[in-house]
Amino acid sequence: MKHDVIIIGGGVSGTALLYTLSKYTNVKNIGLIEKYSDFGMVNSSPTMNSQTLHFGDIETNYTLEKAKKVKRAADMVMNYLEDAKAVRGDEGIFIKVPKMVLAVGKHQVKALRDRYPSFGHLFPKLKMVGKEDIGKIEPRILEGRDPGEELLALVTEDGYTVDFRKLSQSFANNAKALCPDISIYMSTKVEKIIRDGVNFNIKTNKGEFESSAVVVAAGSHSLIFAKSLGYGKSYSILSMSGSFYTGSNILNSKVYTMQTPKLPFAAVHGDPDVQNAQITRFGPTAKPIFFLERYNYSTFWEYWKTFGISIKPVLSILKISSDRIIFNYLLKNVVYDLPWIGKRSFLNEVRKIVPNIKHEEIKFAKGIGGTRPQIINNATKNLELGEAKILGENIIFNITPSPGASTCLGNACEDASKLMEFLSNRFTFEKVRFEKDLVEKDLISEGRK
Ligand SMILES: Cc1cc2nc3c(=O)[nH]c(=O)nc-3n(C[C@H](O)[C@H](O)[C@H](O)COP(=O)(O)OP(=O)(O)OC[C@H]3O[C@@H](n4cnc5c(N)ncnc54)[C@H](O)[C@@H]3O)c2cc1C
Repeated sequence: MKHDVIIIGGGVSGTALLYTLSKYTNVKNIGLIEKYSDFGMVNSSPTMNSQTLHFGDIETNYTLEKAKKVKRAADMVMNYLEDAKAVRGDEGIFIKVPKMVLAVGKHQVKALRDRYPSFGHLFPKLKMVGKEDIGKIEPRILEGRDPGEELLALVTEDGYTVDFRKLSQSFANNAKALCPDISIYMSTKVEKIIRDGVNFNIKTNKGEFESSAVVVAAGSHSLIFAKSLGYGKSYSILSMSGSFYTGSNILNSKVYTMQTPKLPFAAVHGDPDVQNAQITRFGPTAKPIFFLERYNYSTFWEYWKTFGISIKPVLSILKISSDRIIFNYLLKNVVYDLPWIGKRSFLNEVRKIVPNIKHEEIKFAKGIGGTRPQIINNATKNLELGEAKILGENIIFNITPSPGASTCLGNACEDASKLMEFLSNRFTFEKVRFEKDLVEKDLISEGRK
């Protein structure tokens, strides 16, 4: 079967691209290949991630520049969600709850207060509130707390909690409705991509496909395919699993804590589960594992293919973990997953949010939490903070650690533009219409346009 474009991976990234191409380009001959029988079964599954639509307003490890970029992409997802809801009801794709970042103690309070002028300007709905208002939104933050402890929070009503699997299904269904010619191959595993003259030959367990251009949106697996074609040789993956502890009816809103700027992971937070708002989830932790998919032990050897069998990634890991902040963070997080002591030490983190939480109120959530493909750059021996997009000749590889689900449409927009070049501009991407539908609408509602 020959296609103009093939997308590999039916998570939120691959399906967002499928939707973008179907709605905003005139490319019709598109194929999407997914190895599982449904969309969003790996990191986009609601059990695997933190379900937060990250805008950059309450993530204190983001610079203003990073926040601007993430906000633009998150606005696209928010506008898509609100439109989908207006058409068919929310179908359980998302819930909206208040969201805050909480500063505890003098130093954190000062840091958050200093952050507010610039971030408040970028996010006009973000309010700075003191103890009394914090208690009105989330009484358990104050219960049992030392009355002398300083508290400050940045709060917004726009706490979107998203089931990214349902979002993937929604993207795919809308794409198919808009463009019935697209082909979706489920339960089809790509085994090899071979460059065949100007085309790509894609070998799967269900036969071969041909395509002029390819986007690999297979999460951490994207790096295996990139390396097999000679790209991304200086990258390795540090697979950082994230676990959660859960309890009943502890919080009504999303409460994030302050994050260390050096760390590429969202700080521990507590919030209601999108599938059952009575359940409060605390997490995620961050522990290195040797698998590309959490709880899928067959991905052990695939992990080593992305790591690379050479001394370079080992030297990078040694350099990265010689940083005291990173080393202590990793050590603490390894302990959180251990029986008995894990819960006791994790409770110290939870108590920053809910001071009087009792031991029996939360339990380790078995089988919950995916693994984030953090990129190690072996040329600089550093951990890269965001997603990686490797551009090849007529092929793109996307590796998507957090907040990859929030930026799925932003990524899709970039990839759609690039694909038009790959296809010698025989097709057009209506970028202006895309932005009018998904970006500018938000500026209008905020009264900035
Ligand atoms: C603990 C944790 C918390 C997170 N929290 C957040 C958050 O709050 N907000 C946020 O925005 N992001 C968050 N993320 C990140 C987010 O989950 C991911 O960035 C996002 O889901 C990536 O989507 P994807 O489609 O790129 O990858 P995936 O969802 O992993 O999809 C990749 C797809 O490719 C398929 N595939 C792989 N190999 C093959 C093959 N050989 N052949 C065919 N198909 C293949 C897989 O089956 C899968 O369906 C979190 C991640 C973790 C682990």
